[in-house]
Order: sequence, then structure tokens, then C-alpha cells
Amino acid sequence: MKNILIIYTKKVCSNMNSAIISLIVVSLCAGSVIVYLFYKHLWLSLMDAVQSPTPLWVTIALMFLVGVYICLKTRSYYSKELRYKIHYFTFFGYKWRMRIYNDREKHFEVDRIPLCKIHDLPLLKDPNNSSLYCPEFPNKTCNSSMSQSMHCELYRRAVIYIDREVRNNKY
Ligand SMILES: [Zn+2]
Repeated sequence: MKNILIIYTKKVCSNMNSAIISLIVVSLCAGSVIVYLFYKHLWLSLMDAVQSPTPLWVTIALMFLVGVYICLKTRSYYSKELRYKIHYFTFFGYKWRMRIYNDREKHFEVDRIPLCKIHDLPLLKDPNNSSLYCPEFPNKTCNSSMSQSMHCELYRRAVIYIDREVRNNKY
């Protein structure tokens, strides 16, 4: 009686294992078929949408959206360009024009060409030797002039001094 019970239990367990394995295999096959059919249907729908002629209102709506996008981009670009203030500093006998931007970093730019502090005019560059001179210089009414090497040195020093002003003052 005990042996029969053990044999019967083994047979039931064996059948249950087979049933579970069969169930898993069938589920995997059915799942694969469902996933394949789903993606096939999605792909066909997508291809239909791509190949169908575009309605006129969609074209107009797309063109309108692109126009609005370009308009907004252009506006933000120009408003960014204009967001700066101009200050003048006098260092080493010349006026230096500085643009300070309203961004978070407060970055600034200094014009390379300074102005004559007496005549308030930007210096001109001599095409022969790249030296700078005041527009009033040929009239002998101003002696503001500097060589190219002196200009490089003064510009470099002016930027350093202006940087100190920006850091220590609230612009
Ligand atoms: Zn001058």
C-alpha cells in the first residue's frame, strides 16, 4: 500500500511538472504571437499615415507653428543682444567703453579702441604702422596717440582695472 502511494505521488508530480512546462511554453508562444501582431499592426498604421496624402489644414498648421517658432527665436535673440548697459572708464589718459550684460554672470566687454578723453572721439588706426591717434591729431590740436604695442599694453591693463570696478561696484 505504501509503495503504491509513493508511485502514485511520483506520477502526479511528474505530470504536474510536465503541465507547468507545457503551460510556460504555450504562454511564451502566445505572447510572442501577440507582440508580433501588435507591432505589425502598429507598423502598418504608421506606414498608412506616412503614405496618405497630407490634408491641407495640417500643412497650414505646420507652417504656422514653424513661423511662430522662428518669430519667437528671433525675438529672444535680439532681446538678448540688447540687454546690456554701456559705461565709460578713464584709465591711462583714455576713455574706455565697456558693455556689461544683464546675464547672471555679469560678463562684460571692453572696446579695443579707446576714445580721446579731451575730444570724446574714438581713436583712428594708422594703416601704415597700426598706431592709434585722435582724429584731431592732424590739426595739431591734440597729441593723443599711441603705438601698436603701447595700445596692446594699455588695453590689457584697462581690462584688468575695469574688471576690478565691476567686481567692487554694483553694475
Ligand atoms: Zn583728442
